[in-house]
Amino acid sequence: MKTSLRIGSVFGIGIFLHWSFLLLVVGIVVFFIVQSGPTASAATSIGVILGVFACVVLHELGHALAARSFDVPTRSITLYPIGGLARLERIPSDPMKEFWIAVAGPAVNVVIAVVLGALVFATGRPLSPSVLAEPMQDPITTLAWLNVGLAVFNLLPAFPMDGGRVLRALLALNTDYAQATQTAANIGQGMAILFGLLGVLTFNPVLLFIALFVYAGAQRESQQAMFRSFTHGATVRNAMMTRFTTLSIDATLDDAVDALLAGSDHDFPIVEAGDDGRPRLVGILPRQALIRALSTHDAADTVDSIAEEPCFTVSDDQMLDTVFTKMSQEQCSTVPVLNNGDLVGLLTLENVGELVMVASAMEQREAADVRKKMAPQPQAARE
Ligand SMILES: [Zn+2]
Repeated sequence: MKTSLRIGSVFGIGIFLHWSFLLLVVGIVVFFIVQSGPTASAATSIGVILGVFACVVLHELGHALAARSFDVPTRSITLYPIGGLARLERIPSDPMKEFWIAVAGPAVNVVIAVVLGALVFATGRPLSPSVLAEPMQDPITTLAWLNVGLAVFNLLPAFPMDGGRVLRALLALNTDYAQATQTAANIGQGMAILFGLLGVLTFNPVLLFIALFVYAGAQRESQQAMFRSFTHGATVRNAMMTRFTTLSIDATLDDAVDALLAGSDHDFPIVEAGDDGRPRLVGILPRQALIRALSTHDAADTVDSIAEEPCFTVSDDQMLDTVFTKMSQEQCSTVPVLNNGDLVGLLTLENVGELVMVASAMEQREAADVRKKMAPQPQAARE
């Protein structure tokens, strides 16, 4: 979270401002210095922008509260210059729950638009969207229409917009999750290409930017779905490293350097002989900790003086996807794998990546084999 600044919390959910948000603020300030317009209009536009971002926070809270009603906690809400992002602890496997969580965000914007619209209507002012040409004349009407825009934009059926999730949830009712994601991602990328073409034809850089954003989002979503489908049902045993070097608790830093240079291991479990003579895990020595210690410690010091606690240990029969999620959440690159207290392996984020690569290559080969079998024989095709 170091790239973001915590600005507060609502319902126990931390709200963060991403650093790139500062660029937007600086951009607006520079724009008004260059324009050297009246201070009042600068204050109004900053007010409108703050209003928009308040609506974006409310939109994200809509997702978070809907998720909470399905017992899915939200870890944080981060504001980017292009919108907000609510990080849910997990995506519910029931497509209808995902549907309601996705719909809740845009629904908040619809409610805000209706409430603001009613306010404007009550004061007898015009409600036409033409105010958007002179947004500072009527900030409330502007905000009302911007909320309509937010709801429509977010409901476009393309990842990473909420509409992409709605589409996937509806598709997942009739097909499996990975297939549904792939189809939704393909539609998203198709729309991105359309936006891109439109952006080029109309010389609209904003459309081009949205096109790139949607394209990348759709790709990320389809990769994640592929990852989930490959690791689904796999245990830690399937992906762990079984050939690795351990260091004894009385090994010196020199020994550790030798071990580091001799092989490709990055992190070394540190073990000591237990009462039954079997090695027992006492800590882990990551490469960075070793390198750091070399400038402050003596080469003859023992490794236990710089050993670190592993983030957590796992047993070899735990489900891989759960462990992987925990590793990514706690930014833990290596965890020791135990079986009845014995160290039997190491699980690294790199291993898991390799497993997915292997599984994906094998699936492609199988698909190619199937295609070959399905293809008509040359002679038969003639007749
Ligand atoms: Zn949303």
